[in-house]
Amino acid sequence: VLFHLGEMVTATQSVSEDVLELLGTEMNYKVQVVSPEEEDRELLESFDITYGESTGGEEALEARPPVVTVMGHVDHGKTRLLDTIRKANVAEGEAGGITQHIGAYQVKTELEGNERLITFIDTPGHEAFTAMRARGAQATDIAVIVVAADDGVMPQTVEAINHAQAANVPIVVAVNKIDKEGANPAKIRQQLTEYGLVAEEYGGDTMFVDISAKQNINIDGLLEAILLTADAALDLRANPKMEAQGVAIEAHLDRGRGPVATVLVQRGSLRVGDSIVAGDAYGRVRRMVDEYNDDVTVALPSRPVQVIGFTSVPGAGDTFLVVDEDRVARQIAERRQARTRNAQNAAKFKRYSLEDLDSALKETGELTLIIKGDNSGTVEALEDALLKIVVGDEVQLRVIDRGVGGITKANVDLAIASSAIILGFNVRAEAKVAEQANREGIDIRYYSVIYQAIDEIEQALKGMLKPEY
Ligand code: GDP
Repeated sequence: VLFHLGEMVTATQSVSEDVLELLGTEMNYKVQVVSPEEEDRELLESFDITYGESTGGEEALEARPPVVTVMGHVDHGKTRLLDTIRKANVAEGEAGGITQHIGAYQVKTELEGNERLITFIDTPGHEAFTAMRARGAQATDIAVIVVAADDGVMPQTVEAINHAQAANVPIVVAVNKIDKEGANPAKIRQQLTEYGLVAEEYGGDTMFVDISAKQNINIDGLLEAILLTADAALDLRANPKMEAQGVAIEAHLDRGRGPVATVLVQRGSLRVGDSIVAGDAYGRVRRMVDEYNDDVTVALPSRPVQVIGFTSVPGAGDTFLVVDEDRVARQIAERRQARTRNAQNAAKFKRYSLEDLDSALKETGELTLIIKGDNSGTVEALEDALLKIVVGDEVQLRVIDRGVGGITKANVDLAIASSAIILGFNVRAEAKVAEQANREGIDIRYYSVIYQAIDEIEQALKGMLKPEY
């Protein structure tokens, strides 16, 4: 029937929604095209679960802390700022005082005599922010845009603003490095008016705070501005009494502890012993720890905790929810796994029409990649960024596998089978695996900077990359 409709496709190819509907009509079937989101909603409904909103109506809602992402141009001080905020809080007498990176942390601060909490996502930059949004998880309430006062508004500053505005997330501007010679905070305010960010002192409604992340100047002022912006622009409330729901912000495979995922509770309370599903991973919460590696028994809304007890590693940006029984968690995860497999199979072939199938078979015009990294956030971010590279119609980029952890024999085998290049982001191949790759002529490339990886792949796509040994 498809051939008669003028679609020269084989069984492994995808067709458009229009063609599917036409095919249905031809064959007397009613075809309904369902988005992945709808499909997932239906899956959850079949277990009597609704995801995404607090239950219990107005009375059940209680205030929750704002969740903040720090974005801005490279070298403007995002990482330093996150470190300074974290350390400033530790000084206030937290036991042990040593924090571990779990992907997010909470700080206590004071506003008008009240003790308040703020949650910071500990991965600076808009890649993670965007990767999460792409999966339908809005984890951030407020964006802090860092601009170095001695440098000014730069391309990634603008990008970060665009991302925040596209997500409808209010912005606080941190004018950083005011300790430096040549710092010109007024100029930053001037420049940003062009992007719709008008400082309060100029009659606008965006808070600008002059700080030095390095010299620890006015960090309190920034925290206060975050709370004031949250109070003025947002209604941050959630029901703490329901079964927990939220988003996984980081996950990796730990040698001793197995799959470890940092989740941000968005509503409800997460407890040790809960049956949990995150994306297509599931498990039972065996243990929860915070950024001080202290045990947590109950995590309330906006609290990030590291969860131990998943049977596999969830993806960064996957939503999570707690269900009544282990059995339900497993069934939801398995149904999602099946769906992911189908989608991946479809995606594998999606890019080809009959004309370019020919060239693909000749192994020209396509770069096939396998991505491995040290945590799922970076892997997602890298894949996202790579898939955005466009260098013309003749060349295509395909990611056939991605994952967290070192480069394994299985990765190299797959690379051999599909003529793929392997990218290792902050991970390496064992000597034996590297040897095998070498023997088989498989190219493994190591990176620790996302932009460098993107740059090189872009070059490769342009056909200019020379092999390196
Ligand atoms: P990121 O790329 O935005 O994460 O930037 P980093 O946090 O890595 O900072 C880039 C450089 O600027 C580092 O050498 C920091 O020590 C430095 N830096 C960050 N904040 C300040 C500041 O307030 N004053 C000065 N003088 N240097 C800073």
